[in-house]
Amino acid sequence: MAEQLGDWVRTHTCGALRTADLDTDATLLGWVHRVRDLGGVLFIDIRDREGVSQVVFRDNDELLAQAKKLRPEFVVGVKGLVESRSPETVNPKLATGDVEVLARELRLLNEAKTPPFQIAEDSPVSEDVRLKYRYLDLRRPRLQGNIGLRHKVAFAIREQFNAKGFWEIETPILTKSTPEGARDYLVPSRVHPGEFYALPQSPQLFKQILMIGGMDRYFQITRCFRDEDLRADRQPEFTQVDVEMAFASPDLIYGLMEPVIQRIFACIGKTLPAPFRRMPYAEAMAKYGSDKPDLRCGMEIHDVSAAFVDSEFRVFKQIIVDGGVIRGFAVPGGNKYTRNQIDGIVDQAKQIGFGGLIWVRPGEPPTSSVKALSEGSLRAAITGIGATADDLVLLAGGPADNTSSLLGQLRLAVAKRENLLDPEKYEVLWVTDFPLLEWSGEDGRWYAMHHPFTSPMDEDMDKLESDPGSVRAKAYDLVLNGSEIGGGSIRIHSAEMQARIFRRLGISDEEAKSRFGFFLEALEYGTPPHGGIALGLDRIIAILANEASIREVIAFPKTATAVDLMSDAPSTVDPKQLRELHLKSSK
Ligand code: ASP
Repeated sequence: MAEQLGDWVRTHTCGALRTADLDTDATLLGWVHRVRDLGGVLFIDIRDREGVSQVVFRDNDELLAQAKKLRPEFVVGVKGLVESRSPETVNPKLATGDVEVLARELRLLNEAKTPPFQIAEDSPVSEDVRLKYRYLDLRRPRLQGNIGLRHKVAFAIREQFNAKGFWEIETPILTKSTPEGARDYLVPSRVHPGEFYALPQSPQLFKQILMIGGMDRYFQITRCFRDEDLRADRQPEFTQVDVEMAFASPDLIYGLMEPVIQRIFACIGKTLPAPFRRMPYAEAMAKYGSDKPDLRCGMEIHDVSAAFVDSEFRVFKQIIVDGGVIRGFAVPGGNKYTRNQIDGIVDQAKQIGFGGLIWVRPGEPPTSSVKALSEGSLRAAITGIGATADDLVLLAGGPADNTSSLLGQLRLAVAKRENLLDPEKYEVLWVTDFPLLEWSGEDGRWYAMHHPFTSPMDEDMDKLESDPGSVRAKAYDLVLNGSEIGGGSIRIHSAEMQARIFRRLGISDEEAKSRFGFFLEALEYGTPPHGGIALGLDRIIAILANEASIREVIAFPKTATAVDLMSDAPSTVDPKQLRELHLKSSK
């Protein structure tokens, strides 16, 4: 039976008691974490968000009998005297481990069913069960730590932006389709039959309009919604730190955001040196085969085609004759890999899509597999890559773009399987100078690589019509350990340029007007140059908390199939509700 709290007030959290509190009275409120019944003496650990305290019941038969009814996850209140633990029960691992509370009164505030998994132990349990009983999962130290960290980070972000004169301004959730290019979540309007709101994929147009509205500096920690097909570790709703400022340049944005990122890292006690490294997109693609390179493991890709132009190795020579390239990288410490390890890497390369992969131990005489490459070519390639006798060199050939991107994937796969990515290391960089446009062979048209409101670089503007593929954008991504944690751009602030970009993207005047008309009109009323960025908060917290999935840092996440297992959303609705919304279900 559940008792009332009455006039009981918590005097200490369950993580607070220390020897300094000896001989004082304490009232603890929390969950029974563990029970140890020794017959005439009974110990419970009582737990709340802040920690665990030991409570002892002895010398009071009535109270002891009451305590014997306690089970894990019952909610209790205990009043008693703080005393030293007997030497054999001192627990140096626990902050409260020197003391215990000798119970004088107990209130059973609520009982609990036997939980489907133990809160006290980090016992293995499937993620589906954890998500269904999220309220129990949230009681465990892992999630309490992650959600606490998330709060701390969000708070630090707000403090930092506030200090720089940025205002947190809310933008609508019921809105019009936005330009990020994913599918929208739609909300039918009851009062406007056949019409729909869209949930924002980002506040992009609103934050730009705030700049037109003279708000000067805006940020918002906000939910965004994208109805994307199932991809690893995406959530249909996720949180962005959204930022925009008037009269911005890329340098101003970097200078604004670097201290934000530094403060975020200070939340886990890490110091990140600034300014962050900057790398143009073209360099990232050539050296790492990726626009979000993980710089923790070196292994830069080098073009060594020149070494094989005159080689007797026909396969490589033919690739070069066909206009392809030979590229490779050195795996640090790879010289000591066993044959088995190397076979594993070669298999991995095949899975990634390489026809073949050549491996070489630079410090040793050529093995039969690479003899055909000829000593001279090989030496030249090893020198070109800058490999040492401790390394293992991997070489592959093919068409230029494809080879770098495959080598980029191989580089990461090798780094993961050989543990070359130090989880304690944080490598952050700006990737800059992105192409403005991307050609889709399938659709036969250009797409904006970032979004259609991104400004081309001043010096490339005259190539928009003649050589669109070579036009670079004033766009930048922030990359941390191989993950894109943010991205943004300087925007187009002239209505004329905006119209020109729409034309380039094959968006007709009517389409532009119906989708973004309100924004295009606003552009004509004195728009200041402006730019901004958005950070992916979930991903950042996951990296800080060393979690592989963002689900571990969101209080109530959805599964990979966009289901909330706890509340069972999405679900069918009453036919009356559908009628009111002028909808018919085909199910
Ligand atoms: N709206 C962009 C995004 O969500 C970010 C930006 O350009 O500020 O990716």
